[in-house]
Amino acid sequence: MSHVLLLAGTAEARELAARLADMGCLGVTASLAGATAAPAQIAVPTRTGGFGGPKGLAAWIRAHDVTVLIDATHPFAARMQANAARAAAATGIPRLRLLRPEWPARPGWTLVTSLQEAADALPEGARVLLTTGRNEIAPFAARGDVSFHARSIEPVPDLPDHIRNIRARPPFTLADETALMRRLAITHLVSKNAGGAGAAKLDAAEALRLSTIMVARPPRPPGPVAATVAEAVAWLGQTVAKSH
Ligand code: NAP
Repeated sequence: MSHVLLLAGTAEARELAARLADMGCLGVTASLAGATAAPAQIAVPTRTGGFGGPKGLAAWIRAHDVTVLIDATHPFAARMQANAARAAAATGIPRLRLLRPEWPARPGWTLVTSLQEAADALPEGARVLLTTGRNEIAPFAARGDVSFHARSIEPVPDLPDHIRNIRARPPFTLADETALMRRLAITHLVSKNAGGAGAAKLDAAEALRLSTIMVARPPRPPGPVAATVAEAVAWLGQTVAKSH
């Protein structure tokens, strides 16, 4: 029987796990980094924690007779994405990247390629809604001339005075986002180009004619990509059929 290792941490990974659990014909193990204290339930057996780099992942693949690797981590999980490519190559198993499409560029966006560039692009006196996630606030700490509201699911301790933490869990509606931006008198939105369901903040910023600083995705290793869960299921069907 095929054994699929599903690198998770996204809504798509959960959706794919549910589809594969319903199909019932494959062994599937999901893997979480352990970054979130109370992760959403996954419909297949799940292990948690890093593997110890690409070599550790390759060792895990061999030890658990994994035959297919699906990397459904977040578009900005650059390290895990690279590790998955290296471990699949080292063990000779097929790998698929499940990667939702980017948000297409809109009027009023400034495109940057790093968080540091995003921090540098902000004008003095800006009031920023920072939606890059709690682990990616450090590059903004040096901008004491800008006032930030950093949104995160989990609390962020020890922030400097010019960065306030707003705790909130998505999904957010257009009405939520518009009200928040108005209430905080936001002038700039800083976001990573995650793609997917979180676009209400982009709609709100556009409607309010705010500036959006958009951080581009990290480059991805070559190899097959599925943009949707349905495409991933189809790829898996073909890949498993070929191996029999
Ligand atoms: P990252 O920088 O690419 O990965 C850092 C390390 O975390 C990896 O080297 C690996 O440790 C471990 N890791 C990451 N994903 C893992 C998984 N699914 N299973 C087991 N270990 C994993 O990743 P990140 O940006 O910190 O993201 C961590 C997790 O949160 C990912 O699963 C990602 O899908 C999710 N997430 C990330 C973002 C984001 O904006 N970056 C947003 C939402 C969700 P070892 O090298 O020891 O194996």
